[in-house]
Amino acid sequence: MPNSPEWYSEGLGHIWLPYTQMKTTRPPLPVESAGGVRLKLADGRELIDGISSWWAASHGYGNAHIVEAMKVQLDKAAHVMFGGLVNEPALKLSKRLADMLPGDLNRCFIAESGSVSVEVAMKMAVQYFLNRGERRSKFVHFRGTYHGDTLGTMAVCDPDEGMHSLFSDILMDNMLTDLPRNETEATAFKAYLKEHASDVAAVITEPLVQGAGGMVMHGPETLKWLREACDEAGVLFIVDEIFTGFYRTGTRFAIEQADIVPDMVTLSKALSGGASPLSVCVARDEIFDAFYDDDPMKALMHGPTYMGHALGCAAANASLDLFEQEDYGAKAKRINELLVEGLERCRALPNVKDVRTLGAIGVVQLEDASNIEALKPLFVEAGVWIRPFRDIVYLTPPLVISDDDLIKLTNTIYQVLKANQT
Ligand code: PMP
Repeated sequence: MPNSPEWYSEGLGHIWLPYTQMKTTRPPLPVESAGGVRLKLADGRELIDGISSWWAASHGYGNAHIVEAMKVQLDKAAHVMFGGLVNEPALKLSKRLADMLPGDLNRCFIAESGSVSVEVAMKMAVQYFLNRGERRSKFVHFRGTYHGDTLGTMAVCDPDEGMHSLFSDILMDNMLTDLPRNETEATAFKAYLKEHASDVAAVITEPLVQGAGGMVMHGPETLKWLREACDEAGVLFIVDEIFTGFYRTGTRFAIEQADIVPDMVTLSKALSGGASPLSVCVARDEIFDAFYDDDPMKALMHGPTYMGHALGCAAANASLDLFEQEDYGAKAKRINELLVEGLERCRALPNVKDVRTLGAIGVVQLEDASNIEALKPLFVEAGVWIRPFRDIVYLTPPLVISDDDLIKLTNTIYQVLKANQT
């Protein structure tokens, strides 16, 4: 790349990029810094961010309150092992999450990535039954879902999606089925779960929207049916709010729209506002109680090095302050209005299959996505950061985005799609 900084030209030959064919990929863009909703490139260009860094940077970049909280914590301790020691930000965060989540979701296991929190929830489910004298080794999961890239989480993703199918012969053999979307399917799902209950540790799903599976949405009643099915069959229910948590779907948590209490909830991404890697698996009291015993073998056998990371938890506490201080539900609602207003007209374009929105998520699905890669540089040329994938062009902007910036994003999508209609 012309005029690129030294760190870029020297380092690029040594880095391995995500989901990327390194031989044929376009060179990635060097980011010098980011502030508000803008990414600043090394050559001086600025891009309005329509993605929030894989849905994490809900407060934008460099938020003063989060930066200050992290600086204060950095002066105290960035990280101290969580075995035998605890720290103030991690305990404060646990208490706050327990207060904010519904029902008796009261026990927090703090890790560093979304995938790890899902792995932890899966291990909790299996060991919950083991500790009660039952071996259950399967998970029921749904077509179109995504829960991570590690071996355990790949085994609860849709195997036909993306590159996970390459690994199918080494993954756990779980039970894949369709998400119930009406009463008849709900009844069938309940019967199916009951029939297999003695093998099944948990049902796992993404609530209201399957993100990486193509932003496919479903109604809150689906979550109610899954909760009922799990109750009737005596199976645990894991809800993965890593993408949806903290107002992305309009409410603080997607489960609030269904008024349900899962047995475990996983959180990450906007939890720290994208300022630090951090995730939490929050479990109900009954799950925790099954591990609470004199027998050391009944303890939860998991403990990542960066567990309870003090700096990350300080960032998360500051992120929660922001979510509490301002009405983020109203922000998501305003974003939704502008997404509807700005994207609906794409429906009239010949290559558009569907336009859909939910909270602060806006999606234009294409009929023929064969040239989708070619759209990426066009968005950059237009001064916005939008990353189409599969057959969708979508927006998940920082929740603090201004009307003008959001209108620029939706206008750009319309104009780029209109000019490239094949
Ligand atoms: N679950 C969901 C719903 C996700 O969207 C993601 C990440 N896109 C993950 C799990 C995995 O999180 P991470 O990339 O932090 O491991």
